[in-house]
Amino acid sequence: MSSTQADYAIIGAGAAGLQLCLRLLEDPFFSSRQILLIDADAKTQNDRTWSFWERGAGRWDSLIWKSWDAARFTAPGFSSDIPLRPYRYKSLRSADFYRHALSLIDAAPNVTRILENASSLLEDENGVCIALTSGQKVCAKLVFDSRIPNGFDSDNPNVTGIWQHFGGWVVRFDEPVFNPEVFTMMDFNRRYEDTCSFTYILPETAHQGLIEFTFFSPKCVSKSVYESEVESYIQTHFPGKHFELVDTEFGIIPMSDYPFHQHHTARITQIGTGGGWVKPSTGYSFRNAERYIDVLIGNLKTERVPSSGIYSSRHRFYDSLFLHRLKNENAIGHELFTVMYKNNPIDRIFRFLDEESSFGDELQIMSTFSPWPFMRIIFQKVGAGILRLIRP
Ligand SMILES: Cc1cc2nc3c(=O)[nH]c(=O)nc-3n(C[C@H](O)[C@H](O)[C@H](O)COP(=O)(O)OP(=O)(O)OC[C@H]3O[C@@H](n4cnc5c(N)ncnc54)[C@H](O)[C@@H]3O)c2cc1C
Repeated sequence: MSSTQADYAIIGAGAAGLQLCLRLLEDPFFSSRQILLIDADAKTQNDRTWSFWERGAGRWDSLIWKSWDAARFTAPGFSSDIPLRPYRYKSLRSADFYRHALSLIDAAPNVTRILENASSLLEDENGVCIALTSGQKVCAKLVFDSRIPNGFDSDNPNVTGIWQHFGGWVVRFDEPVFNPEVFTMMDFNRRYEDTCSFTYILPETAHQGLIEFTFFSPKCVSKSVYESEVESYIQTHFPGKHFELVDTEFGIIPMSDYPFHQHHTARITQIGTGGGWVKPSTGYSFRNAERYIDVLIGNLKTERVPSSGIYSSRHRFYDSLFLHRLKNENAIGHELFTVMYKNNPIDRIFRFLDEESSFGDELQIMSTFSPWPFMRIIFQKVGAGILRLIRP
């Protein structure tokens, strides 16, 4: 192991890697630690917009480009504009976040940015050496790796996984068409074939907004499907109105109960999407990263295993049940979301999805669903677990 090793190396300067690096820089406890930040991408492009709900003021408020006090949920037979207070739904452009984070990181004397990709990692009792794509090698005592582990396999029969995949257009109309005060969380009135699919809309002004067609489904579709769904939405809701295309967004996010934690080692901690920080039942992860990094920082300061206590196994169990139904009964996904949004106040739903709910909240949410389909999954899972134990 090299004698000039850093204390920490962060692989990936994305949402998780940069948030972690910023937290390390902010805390005087880590001021003497040498940190490497490794990513071949200079992170100068606006490659996505992160949105999340948050109660009150938040850490990224100065970077937020737009926020909303109300969310629309629409499905056949039910539609509601839901006031979100005390929450707000906030949107952050990745380019603003990268610029902000990297300006602080580049000014910090104890961070070295390496504009290369990591390839293999070699761990021993002193630390981890990271082979870079140029053939160089750098070493650190602890590594935080945001790459998706090679072993991630959404087709593994012991894993319940689907994809959140979406494509959208930012469009500017000649005349006012949007209500800029209300964003559309889910509009299930237009679905693609028998899938759990919906339209998501972030109206920036009355003239301009993002219209995105999103699937929570086991199989991805071609890009033209999202585009034709967005076009049809526009024709149905804003017939004859002229618009221009300002930007596009496409993405695929794993929604999976895959045990990402199995890839942690004594000195390598998986973070971000590669650490299972994407909430399996929603696909959101930006705010999770903030919460999980709080725990991780506390663990580093008290010399505990960095990943310990990061997420709640009780909530992962609920995620797994919900994913199971979405995967196996994809055509009724909209009914599950409708039951949840129709019968629960939004603050209870957000607490539940943020894994901050009490057991009482969870019982109230569960009581709004018919229990038998979930019970059946629990019996199946218990049965499969017993079979795995007794198989030679
Ligand atoms: C288009 C899109 C929109 C999304 N919108 C939302 C949203 O609204 N709200 C929300 O909560 N979540 C959203 N997500 C999900 C999630 O928050 C993001 O994917 C988030 O960026 C995940 O953070 P991350 O750090 O794990 O990955 P990323 O932000 O993707 O960062 C990973 C980094 O690792 C780097 N990297 C990859 N391989 C290597 C290597 N070998 N060596 C070094 N570096 C490497 C990449 O260049 C990248 O910079 C969205 C995802 C996408 C794709």
